[in-house]
Amino acid sequence: MSIQLHDYQEVAGPGVIGELRVLAGRVAGRRMQHINSTPVGGGVAEILTRLVPLLRELGLEASWDVIKGDQAFFGVTKTFHNALHGKPEEITDQMFEIYRANTEANLQDINFTGDVIFVHDPQPAGLILRKKEIARNWVWRCHIDVSAPQPDVWHFLRPYVEQYDAAIFSMPDFAQRLPIVQFRVAPSIDPLSDKNKPLERSYVAGVLEKYGIDPGRPILTQVSRFDRFKDPLGVIAAHRLVKKRYKCQLVLAGGGAPDDPEGEEVLRDVQEAAADDPDIHVLLLAPFSDLEIDALVRASTVVLQKSVREGFGLTVSEALWKKKPVIGGAVGGIKLQVIDGMTGFLVHSPEGAANRIAQLLGDRRLRERLGENGYLHVRQNFLLTRHVKDYLLTMLALEHPRESVVYLA
Ligand code: UDP
Repeated sequence: MSIQLHDYQEVAGPGVIGELRVLAGRVAGRRMQHINSTPVGGGVAEILTRLVPLLRELGLEASWDVIKGDQAFFGVTKTFHNALHGKPEEITDQMFEIYRANTEANLQDINFTGDVIFVHDPQPAGLILRKKEIARNWVWRCHIDVSAPQPDVWHFLRPYVEQYDAAIFSMPDFAQRLPIVQFRVAPSIDPLSDKNKPLERSYVAGVLEKYGIDPGRPILTQVSRFDRFKDPLGVIAAHRLVKKRYKCQLVLAGGGAPDDPEGEEVLRDVQEAAADDPDIHVLLLAPFSDLEIDALVRASTVVLQKSVREGFGLTVSEALWKKKPVIGGAVGGIKLQVIDGMTGFLVHSPEGAANRIAQLLGDRRLRERLGENGYLHVRQNFLLTRHVKDYLLTMLALEHPRESVVYLA
């Protein structure tokens, strides 16, 4: 049975739903088109999967298209992604050529139907070239930190970005100086999705059994694509340190994403690093393993997201929503979600992570307090309903630029 708007009333509050209906009434029947680079894997796909149906329910004609790309293109965009996050990468003219050629192919392929078109992240950013023919509102929705990019990639991307009518960043720290309107919209989780909904204990127990995880000992979990920025090797190092004091287990659960060709190599490194330790469970999950991910997080004593660079890190809110204390790398959007000492702990090294894990394993009350705070923090700030509201406001702001409404930034 499909989830409907009123189902959110219980988790988000009736006022929130009423507000959404009022805002949606002002843009009823309008077409909001989203375009990104993968239908599955990673936070953007995760969000759009639920956001688009909810917008439809509110009376908008929301749609979602995915650009096509071969391995060469996604190899290039992953390199760009790393470089935009400030990791040194060797960039060649051929890479720019591959990006341009792929953009050209997608310009022919995609049917641009939106009254407002949200283009997510750098991979499809070049689609703005169509704006000359289709004069609609174009928004570049950037989920990553482009505040300190490698200059050559940003110089390449920037002329595309400047043609948009507006840009959205997840947090002010991520933004660039641009000659276009900028909004701040944080990502969100869907509290009613399979990944976040309450589960029967027996189901959770079954998942632990399936993966050979002992329910009688503490479980540390990180759910992430196998990506170096997520620092799975740092998590293994932290676990090694903690194991000297606590007989805990580590679960590293993740899958790939079609637009991330580095995953296999990172997975191999992780498997190698974990090979001699029966208490480390490296789980390669199929796409749409949402119920199992939900179960693994619910069974966890502590959840980690020890990224060394991060966009937002939806996994953090997913865990906080389940009242789990989270230890997160002090980077990107993790800093919005993990309020140090309140909803979890921010760390800068495997040693720091190990100290905080040990502290949490030794203090049930602390875990409960942080978990409770985390749940409230997510309820207030990072639920899908807030995200929908922000996009509706963005649409209104673009359609009525002169109206004196207090907007998001
Ligand atoms: N995820 C998943 N399966 C996996 C790994 C991750 O469904 O094997 C989900 C995870 O639960 C979260 C999203 O993918 O909802 C990842 O979003 P996040 O913002 O944490 O990181 P990104 O992958 O976008 O960098």
